[in-house]
Amino acid sequence: MPEPKKLTFNNLAHLMERRGLLSRDQLHDVLARGKAQESRLFSHYHSGTSRRTSTGAEHVSPAEVLASFNLEIHGSPGHLLTEDVITDALASATGLPYVKIDPLKLDLHVVTDHIPRPFALKNLIVAIEESHGVITVAVADPFNEAIVTELASARRLEIRRVLSSKSDILKILREFYGFRASVVAAEAEASTTIDLGNLEQFFKLKGHQEVEGTDTHVVSAVDFLLNYAFDQHASDIHIEPKRETSLIRFRIDGVIHNIHVIPKPLHAPIVSRIKMLSRMDLAEKRRPQDGRIKTTFSNKDIELRVSTVPVAFGEKVVIRVFDPDILLQDLDSMGFYPRELALYNSFLRRPNGIILVTGPTGSGKTTTLYSSLRSLSSPEVNIVTVEDPIEMVMEEFNQIGVQQGIGVSFDTVLRNILRQDPDIIMIGEIRDRETAENAVQAALTGHLVLSTLHTNDSASTIIRLLDLGVPPFLISATLLGIVAQRLVRKICPACKKIRILSQDESDYLQLPGKSYAVWEGEGCKECRGTGYKGRSGLFEVMDMNDRLKALVSGSVGLATIVAAARKEGLVSLREIAINKMLEGVTTYEEVVSMTG
Ligand SMILES: [Zn+2]
Repeated sequence: MPEPKKLTFNNLAHLMERRGLLSRDQLHDVLARGKAQESRLFSHYHSGTSRRTSTGAEHVSPAEVLASFNLEIHGSPGHLLTEDVITDALASATGLPYVKIDPLKLDLHVVTDHIPRPFALKNLIVAIEESHGVITVAVADPFNEAIVTELASARRLEIRRVLSSKSDILKILREFYGFRASVVAAEAEASTTIDLGNLEQFFKLKGHQEVEGTDTHVVSAVDFLLNYAFDQHASDIHIEPKRETSLIRFRIDGVIHNIHVIPKPLHAPIVSRIKMLSRMDLAEKRRPQDGRIKTTFSNKDIELRVSTVPVAFGEKVVIRVFDPDILLQDLDSMGFYPRELALYNSFLRRPNGIILVTGPTGSGKTTTLYSSLRSLSSPEVNIVTVEDPIEMVMEEFNQIGVQQGIGVSFDTVLRNILRQDPDIIMIGEIRDRETAENAVQAALTGHLVLSTLHTNDSASTIIRLLDLGVPPFLISATLLGIVAQRLVRKICPACKKIRILSQDESDYLQLPGKSYAVWEGEGCKECRGTGYKGRSGLFEVMDMNDRLKALVSGSVGLATIVAAARKEGLVSLREIAINKMLEGVTTYEEVVSMTG
């Protein structure tokens, strides 16, 4: 039977069966149910909130219908026949290269300059690459060659076709043309002010900032940017003014990616809009400011913490994204080993005392604290937090934000907090002697206190407390235990492969014996070629038992504490990292960069 020349549901289903992705039985089943499923999807698309207009986007594609059955791939249990799998198979059947579109690799100009938006939407095509005068265009229908020929002759372009899923193409069309439209419109407006002469002068005369930040185009450009960041699971958004342009970058799984370069005249209005949303003082541009934005994205509340800092070419904005799925996790899915988790849970069950979580910035301390507090929260327990600033607003907790500017410091809050009858107190960070003393006082008067300290490991945390002037007998009386933690990137499961450590590498980690098999990600579409996906915590847990307590004195050294803790069974961060590498969770490179 020849390959089909038209993309219908029946043709597609038969093709999948011929390529071994569907069994005979599955084929008969989907052929029987195809029509009904298509009309169900169609009415779903057209119900309620859908904003689809009269374009190709409103039709249900055969691949979407087939994927919506959520069938298991024949002979491949646990793997679903997704739109991507179907598109990939369709591509090889029709001789077109299959491309999973990575929005981070696309250039706004390439996407939006060559194909007008209505044409792209109507025909579900998108330009994804331009190289030596050849435009690579992703299409959803491999048989509709005419449309590309038409485009090539009308716009005098040389075009290469590749096949991508309808969902991918639509997503790009919406995000990129939407952002582009907002930027172009806002730019056009900004340039009318440039025509008036000196832009800066104009700002001064008109108090122009407020007008610009509320401009509808600026408003929607910022909306697009935020939604794009949430969609990509970015943890931070950076908006950085340069001499001629402004650079927008996202941090994803700990790594920074360049996202957009926008015209310089738009930097200030965009920053104004963000400052407005986070209730900052718009007129203040010379001093750093902090603010927050609460918003929702796919039915989740997302909290954004915004900070601005003046740099050479304007105000730089950094937005931290607090995704509740990341900030609040089950303690047993965070990466603890069983021994460490059992110890840590035993600390949390104690009625009073201090638990300290330590590690550098970005090591996941806040996630540990918030997740712990949530595991402890119940209607009978009063949890009070003192934070600088409040990381994420949680209804179950009574949160107090430190405001140094108006004299609300950790110290003053903590002195008054005990009158609020708390059971559990979380102190954002112990930075000074006063805060340390307050924490000790609260623990001595029957409260469970959780806090963080900026130290590298558990043993040096004790030294740091002594340095802060906490008397040794009070440390012994109140400290329950210490958790030192780090985050490592997890290997992408889709492109994981084994390799053997070289002699130099195993020597570097001081591994005994000869050869070790470890895993690494080759880089694939799933992980944007990075080889990593998501992160895992590493937790070193020190139990302050009687033997360790007896040791703490004004003259005790780090080496003594470490040696005693090892004797009591402490597993170091380094050992935990190496275990995670040998188990295939993370790579040699991650272990080296974490422990180095
Ligand atoms: Zn991968």
